[in-house]
Amino acid sequence: MHLVITGRIDAEVREQISRERPEMTVAHWRGEGTIPRAILLKWVHEADAVLCMLTERIDQEFLDQAPHLRIVSNMAVGYDNLDLPALTAQGILATNTPDVLTESTAELAMALMLVVLRRMRSAEDDLRQGLWTGWSPDGFLGAELYGKTLGLIGFGRIAGAVLRRAQAFGMAVQVYSRRTVPDLPDGVHQVDWETVTAESDIISLHVPLSPSTYHMLDASALARMRRNAVVINTARGPVVDESALVLAIAEHRIAGAGLDVFEQEPLSPDSPLLGLPGVVLLPHIGSATVETRRAMARRAWTNIRSLAEGKAPADLLNPAVWPESRR
Ligand code: NAP
Repeated sequence: MHLVITGRIDAEVREQISRERPEMTVAHWRGEGTIPRAILLKWVHEADAVLCMLTERIDQEFLDQAPHLRIVSNMAVGYDNLDLPALTAQGILATNTPDVLTESTAELAMALMLVVLRRMRSAEDDLRQGLWTGWSPDGFLGAELYGKTLGLIGFGRIAGAVLRRAQAFGMAVQVYSRRTVPDLPDGVHQVDWETVTAESDIISLHVPLSPSTYHMLDASALARMRRNAVVINTARGPVVDESALVLAIAEHRIAGAGLDVFEQEPLSPDSPLLGLPGVVLLPHIGSATVETRRAMARRAWTNIRSLAEGKAPADLLNPAVWPESRR
């Protein structure tokens, strides 16, 4: 079996791969940043398995260069970078890495809420620039999470982990989901789209990017939001209409945003987001902890190892392919 790994993964897991399947040949991109497309398309020609990052587009052009490919193991829970119907049509297994990044991403969502509401970015900037003249009763006044209403958009693994944290902060939580959510904790209500957007102080997005969630938070949803409202996005950039968000903040129709993801990544130095007050911007670091990235790499490898051992990978996204792929 020949494996292509498209990015720098945890050293322990890389060593585990060599130890567990010494016969496997591996081409591993260890360069800075994402693997250049031309190299990826060249390397995949020999590959039986690809362990890829969310930055790789696994599309028909890629699949046309991959005559031996049996599995694409995405080192992410989101898989909007995979053309799943095309993979399925070609009988290639696709997997992701759910669960292992839930807590780190939920922590980042809470961190963004705190940093935005407590105005920490501008307060720290002032301090560093020598503009802090001492404690003052009305200096750097922000807002607190305690007592605020959090609207969770999508109610899967990460939203559930944010809910637990929000309750510990004394927040009221309401949930928007396209399905009826059973067994919500006492005091937590499922509400419709109009209510969650109109009656939350903080909106936190936790849906995958798909045709049904593209620009889900659009101009009309933003127009319903409270003046003090803040948008937190640790999901995927295109779930929010970024131009409409910029306008809503610039016109003071909502208070601000904490964004870990963007419509275009990396964010352009010309992005109007950079000039807005009340906005905190992070370079897509939701799962970026040593513990989580190690666990993601291990889980992505385990899915490939399962196939090598003739077992169905645990995180199959297209299970219909499995019996076919076994032959
Ligand atoms: P998950 O457990 O699958 O949860 C996603 C939830 O979204 C599901 O409950 C799903 O409900 C719901 N949903 C999907 N489409 C919807 C729609 N149109 N309207 C309302 N709800 C909808 O996924 P997760 O593990 O929580 O991860 C969520 C997303 O976070 C990932 O897909 C990824 O894009 C993003 N993420 C980002 C980072 C980062 O670095 N910033 C890190 C990890 C994850 P159904 O049951 O109805 O499908």
